[in-house]
Amino acid sequence: DPQMAEQGISLLRRLIEQGYEGYFVGGCVRDELMERPVNDMDIATNATPEQVMTIFEHTIPTGIAHGTITVIMNGEQFEVTTYRTESDYTDHRHPEQVQFVSDLYEDLRRRDFTMNAIARGIDGSYVDPFHGREDLEQGIIRCVGDPEERFEEDALRMLRGIRFSSVFNFTIEPATWQALVHRRSLIRYIAAERIRVEMEKMIAGPYPFKGIQLLQESELVSDMKISVPCPPEQPELLNRLADIPAVPVSLRWTLITMALGLDSEQMKPYMKEWTFSNAFMDQVSRLLRMHERLLAAADHNANREVYISAVIDYGRETAGQWQQLYPVLTDNVQQQLASFAAHGQQWLDEMNIFGMGDVQINGQDLLAALQAKGGPWLGKLMNEILLATAAGQLDNTREAILEYAHQQYEKRDN
Ligand code: ATP
Ligand code: MG
Repeated sequence: DPQMAEQGISLLRRLIEQGYEGYFVGGCVRDELMERPVNDMDIATNATPEQVMTIFEHTIPTGIAHGTITVIMNGEQFEVTTYRTESDYTDHRHPEQVQFVSDLYEDLRRRDFTMNAIARGIDGSYVDPFHGREDLEQGIIRCVGDPEERFEEDALRMLRGIRFSSVFNFTIEPATWQALVHRRSLIRYIAAERIRVEMEKMIAGPYPFKGIQLLQESELVSDMKISVPCPPEQPELLNRLADIPAVPVSLRWTLITMALGLDSEQMKPYMKEWTFSNAFMDQVSRLLRMHERLLAAADHNANREVYISAVIDYGRETAGQWQQLYPVLTDNVQQQLASFAAHGQQWLDEMNIFGMGDVQINGQDLLAALQAKGGPWLGKLMNEILLATAAGQLDNTREAILEYAHQQYEKRDN
C-alpha cells in the first residue's frame, strides 16, 4: 500500500527531525522482503511513549504499559513501540513486565525469529544483526538466540514457528526444531484463544496440511490446551484443504471437522473449546447440516425439492459453500451426491425465494383471508407456501397464494 508506506515514511522523518531514532520492524519488513502484501506497519523508536504522544497530534495509548502508541497519520494507523526488552516470563507466557532500552539491537534480540528481527531505516538500509534476510532467502525459520531458552520464555513461539513454516512453506532449522520437540509440553501454558488465532492463520494459508503435519510430528497437538480427536477419522481430507478457497473461513474449518469425524452436533463442544465465536460455529454447523441433509436423501430422493428445502433451511451462502466443498470430498461420498452437485448450482441460480420475507404474503394476511385463528397449522401452511413458491410450483402473487391457502385449509378441515 503506497499510501500507507508514504505516511509511514513521514512518521519516521518526524521522529528523526525531533532527534529520535525510528525504524520499520517485524512483520512488515519481512513481508515486504518476501513481496507479500503488507497489512500493518510497525515502527520501533527510542522515544518514550510520552514523547511519542507529544510529537504527534493524533495518538491512542493502545498499549502504553508495553510501550505501544498508535499514531494516526492522514487516516493511516501505525503502532509505534519504544525499544524494549521483555523480562519476567512467568508461566512461559508473554511477560507482564517490559523494560525500555535505548538500543535497537536489544529490541531486535527479544523478537522470535531471525526473519522477524529485521529493521529498515528511512533511507532503505537494513539493521539485520541476526541475518534474517539470509534465512528469508533460504526459506528458513530460525530462533533469535538459543531456541530452548526462547521457547521456554514464551511457548507460543513454537506454534508461531509452525504457523510461519506452514504459511510460507519454509523449513524449520534443525536446532530450532529440536528445541521445539524437546519443549513441546510447555504449549499447555498457552491459552486456547491464542492457539486458535495461530491455527486460523495457518489454516487460511496456502499450505495448511504442512502445518498440520508439523503439529502431529512435533506432538504439539497432544499437549495443547484444546482437545482434538486423534487420530483423525478421515486424514485424507486434511490433504485437500488447500484445494478449497480460504474465504469464507468456515469452508476449510468444516472440512477439518469432517476429517476429524465430527458431525454437526459433535463438533459444537469442540468449537466452543477452541474459542470460536457462536456466529462462526453456526456457519460451520449450517454447512455440515446441509451436507448431512443431502447425504440422507442421496440414495432415494436426490431431487430438486430436497435441495430447495435445504437451501431454505440453511441459506443460499451455505448452499454455495457446499458446492465448493463437494470437489474435495472422498470419491465415495462424491458418488452418492453426484446428482446434487451436478444440478445444485443451477437450481440455486433459478431460485428467487429464500425465506418468508420474499413471499408476497405473511401470516397476518393468511389469518385475515381465511378468517381463522392461529395455531400450529399456520406455520406448517406457511412452510408449504414457502417451499412451493421457491420451487416455482406456485406463483408468488397474493392471488395465487390465497387460492392455494384456501384449498389447503379446507383439506385440513376435512
Ligand atoms: P503476522 O503476519 O501474523 O502479523 P507478525 O510477525 O507481524 O506476523 P505480530 O504478532 O504482528 O506477528 O508481531 C509483530 C512482531 O513482533 C513480530 O514480527 C516479531 O518481531 C514480534 N513478536 C510477535 N510475537 C512474538 C513473540 N511471541 N515472541 C517474540 N517476538 C514476537
Ligand atoms: Mg503483524
